[in-house]
Amino acid sequence: MEKNKSVAFHTLGCKLNFSETSTLSRMLEADGFEKKSFDDVADVYVINTCSVTENADKECRQIVRRIQRKAPESMVVITGCYAQLKPKEIAEIPGVDLVLGAAEKFNITEHLKELTKGDSTKISSCEIADVTGFNVSYSLNDRTRTFLKVQDGCDYTCAFCTIPQARGKSRSNHIDNVLENIDSIAATGNVKEIVLTGINLGDFGKGPDGNKKTEESFLDLIKAIDQQDAIHRFRISSIEPNLLTDEIIYFVANSKNFMPHFHIPLQSGSNEILGNMRRRYKKELYQERVEHIKKVMPDCAIGVDVIVGFPGESEAHFQETHDFLHDLDVSYFHVFTYSERARTKALEIEPIVPMHVRHERNKVLRNLSYKKMQYFTESHREEVRKVLFEEQNKNGMMEGYTDNYIRVTAPYKEDWANNIVDWNLR
Ligand code: SF4
Repeated sequence: MEKNKSVAFHTLGCKLNFSETSTLSRMLEADGFEKKSFDDVADVYVINTCSVTENADKECRQIVRRIQRKAPESMVVITGCYAQLKPKEIAEIPGVDLVLGAAEKFNITEHLKELTKGDSTKISSCEIADVTGFNVSYSLNDRTRTFLKVQDGCDYTCAFCTIPQARGKSRSNHIDNVLENIDSIAATGNVKEIVLTGINLGDFGKGPDGNKKTEESFLDLIKAIDQQDAIHRFRISSIEPNLLTDEIIYFVANSKNFMPHFHIPLQSGSNEILGNMRRRYKKELYQERVEHIKKVMPDCAIGVDVIVGFPGESEAHFQETHDFLHDLDVSYFHVFTYSERARTKALEIEPIVPMHVRHERNKVLRNLSYKKMQYFTESHREEVRKVLFEEQNKNGMMEGYTDNYIRVTAPYKEDWANNIVDWNLR
């Protein structure tokens, strides 16, 4: 393919996907592509898909149709988790030229060179078990905060989850490389905060090809990061409760670079449902983790992932989850409505919870989350905390987050944009 072609990206799903899109974009720009907005006409459109999104298939079709209406001569490339899970189905969508699975995603530059519009759809994908290697990714779109991938894939077998089938076994970068990535990010200029990102972050240390326990652990990683001097604000995107050790909690509590903020998936407050989900802990362990964090870091924000409507979740199970969360000293939840996924163990569990009940339960927990966040914010009133303000001017206002993840809105001030400001939480 000639130089100076243009490319536009559309990303579905999680922060990891966004960090990978950002990296793919930089790779193509380095190869001479001009980056365009997805609403513009471009020579190549890349859709980075997600398998967690409900209606991934429908969404993908709609986006391809939009492209076809706007730019029928343009090349359409589909990659990401959904492309790995269902390559043939995607290849059948009219207008798709190339489907890239997990192993080929980062070879996009080479694939585009061999692609001609009008050829039959090419699928480049392999069995997920054969996917090895670790591709470094970080987002640089929003200069304030960067999502840096340090781990990928997952060796767990949670009954509702397709991520291991889409992303493969647990693999991670080496600590030295992560430190180099941080230096590169710092060298780009203005990034003030890095969020360490992965699929199962606490499982860090299995090496770029997975399968083996290396000498490095997640604790070693955060210790090394705490000693570098290039960037001074870090968050851990999410960590499984069974992998969040006392040592990690204690280290974060005393670190200079890690913010007092954890995000810990719970998924259910019922041990029976946790068992059916094949999660690796009971609610008592979760509660103990939260209590330990709060003991050593009373100001720490704690976010919770929870799924409602998992098969077999009775009204009593849901109430148990609600009451558990109600009494837990956490700050906010991300509530997910369970939806069926092909080739998952959850499909074998009965009874199925009707969709309207799932939505009602979602609403109940979102209301509780709102109250939790209000309470958490209220309990920090009149404190002066370090807020990192974002750059955008939104109708004369700007937003930022405190170290402990309280959202702050203030009248826009250029001096504060992308800067850390001592802020009184009045
Ligand atoms: S820990 Fe469970 S939910 Fe998370 S990616 Fe692995 S299998 Fe999926």
